[in-house]
Amino acid sequence: MKKAVFPGSFDPITLGHVDIISRSLPLFDEIVIAIGINAKKNYMFSIDERKKFIQNAFFAEQKITVETYTGLTVDYCKTINADFILRGLRNPADFEFEKAIAQTNRKLSGIETVFLLTSAETSFISSSIVRDIVRNGGDASILLPKSVADYLNKK
Ligand code: ADP
Repeated sequence: MKKAVFPGSFDPITLGHVDIISRSLPLFDEIVIAIGINAKKNYMFSIDERKKFIQNAFFAEQKITVETYTGLTVDYCKTINADFILRGLRNPADFEFEKAIAQTNRKLSGIETVFLLTSAETSFISSSIVRDIVRNGGDASILLPKSVADYLNKK
């Protein structure tokens, strides 16, 4: 069984994440979307909000579960018997950053990182841009899954 972990902050999940997750579905039997909790980071959305956003976006998808974890991603993968890490690549900066982490993770644990290239329509989307828009009172709906956009518009 091919099990992958898609780790990230998902603060919040965007259509960029949704694109990567949807396109990875044919590659794996199970995908655990894993929200990494870093005590030193300040998040805009709580763990519960971020978890619900993801669950709502994929409520009908049997292959997907949403979890949280602390510590090293490779340790978490071992705990749940996942052999693959899934990541998205948007640009050269993502590549340089992800390359070192993926190579280190493979050396440490043998776990392979599978990269999917961003789709042209969503390549410009990032959670940080969404947070900037929200912080300044703008409408980020076109960058977000409908459930997240609805939640923000009701606030
Ligand atoms: P992290 O803090 O670990 O970077 P993010 O939630 O920002 O967490 O991103 C998680 C993953 O989703 C990363 O691999 C990132 O490159 C990918 N990702 C984010 N936005 C996009 C996008 N628009 N297209 C493709 N991949 C994306």
